[in-house]
Amino acid sequence: MPDVIVIGGGVVGASVCLRIAQAGARVALIEAKRVGAGTSGASFAWVNSRHKRPRAYHNLNVAGMREHAVVRQQFGAAPWWHGGGAVEWVSPAKASDQSAEIERLKKWGYIVERITAKDLQDMEPDVDPAAVSGSAITYYPEEGWIDPVVYAHAMLSAAQRHGGHVSSGAHVTEVVLRGDRVGGVRTEDGRLLEADVVVNCAGRWVNGAMQEAGLRLPLAGTAGFLAFTPPIATGLSRVLHTPGVNVRPDGAGRLMLHSDETDETVSIETPLNPAMAQASELVARARRVLPSMGEVEAEAVRVAVRPIPADGFSAVGPMPRLRGYYLVVTHSGVTLSPFLGRAVAEEVVGGRTCDVLREFRPARFFE
Ligand SMILES: Cc1cc2nc3c(=O)[nH]c(=O)nc-3n(C[C@H](O)[C@H](O)[C@H](O)COP(=O)(O)OP(=O)(O)OC[C@H]3O[C@@H](n4cnc5c(N)ncnc54)[C@H](O)[C@@H]3O)c2cc1C
Repeated sequence: MPDVIVIGGGVVGASVCLRIAQAGARVALIEAKRVGAGTSGASFAWVNSRHKRPRAYHNLNVAGMREHAVVRQQFGAAPWWHGGGAVEWVSPAKASDQSAEIERLKKWGYIVERITAKDLQDMEPDVDPAAVSGSAITYYPEEGWIDPVVYAHAMLSAAQRHGGHVSSGAHVTEVVLRGDRVGGVRTEDGRLLEADVVVNCAGRWVNGAMQEAGLRLPLAGTAGFLAFTPPIATGLSRVLHTPGVNVRPDGAGRLMLHSDETDETVSIETPLNPAMAQASELVARARRVLPSMGEVEAEAVRVAVRPIPADGFSAVGPMPRLRGYYLVVTHSGVTLSPFLGRAVAEEVVGGRTCDVLREFRPARFFE
């Protein structure tokens, strides 16, 4: 059994750590700040496989959705999970694109239902019928969202019960190389932690501890912006995708708001303030959908950079030319993490090869 170090305590590293511990290997997860401090703590965290093309990438995301169900079953209580599906309606200009997407999803076996405005009123009575008027409405019953930090904590608590070790506040400064293989990692305080295998789950910081320029993964991360309301009296219980804003509950009556358009106006350097124009705009758009929100301002905002490999697809697998070094870097990591946890453990500890990952190997960037 290899001794394994996992770098990074986001949803991906936490899932990988648990499954490696369960597989019986010695595993230590090293997190620079705190569990969920990275992109996982600023994610819309919608579990889905929409707009995922080609088919292999769709299948990978469906595998993520299915594995979420497996994890829920294994844990019994899954306080991080919020099911009930997601609802979408689009502007008339995007209706034909949406119809084509629905047809494709159905062909690929994804569960999609057209619902009426009356169905939506029964499901989400706080949605203003005028905001939906004339739009085709779609319901995706198998989708949901998670609380990523709650999820990561649950995975790591279980990992510790299986003998895994978790260090927070320990920054990995170097992946230690011994010829053509990895020897472990060095942390900021100068400690050398030896390992047979290092699994780098540091998300957008994946290259931070890699000294060799030729072994750095090319990234093309994009910034994402979220605004949060204070607790308000709406009964919204599902993810809503509407023409101007995506909305979902975020606990204790808070709503999380997002839009692709707003993302394009921010970067990781943008000074953040709940009173900023982007936040006010998202709140105004959400209020048009959920008038019962009443007079409210954003209470918090967050920006994060998505850990996206340069061609937009996941990079999961061994690094060519460096034995024992394994990368797990991906967008949609919230959807994918439970599946990646299992698949990576099977490959790293079990010596098996996961077919679903065949097209998503980091090797494509290094050959
Ligand atoms: C606005 C937004 C919306 C999103 N919406 C969705 C969505 O709806 N559905 C979905 O599936 N995905 C979504 N994503 C993407 C998803 O959130 C990410 O793919 C996922 O969180 C990545 O998780 P991770 O564990 O790989 O990375 P992270 O959560 O970033 O974790 C990496 C960890 O590594 C630590 N670290 C970094 N460097 C070091 C080091 N040298 N030593 C030790 N530790 C280190 C960091 O502190 C961090 O905690 C969204 C992302 C954003 C920004």
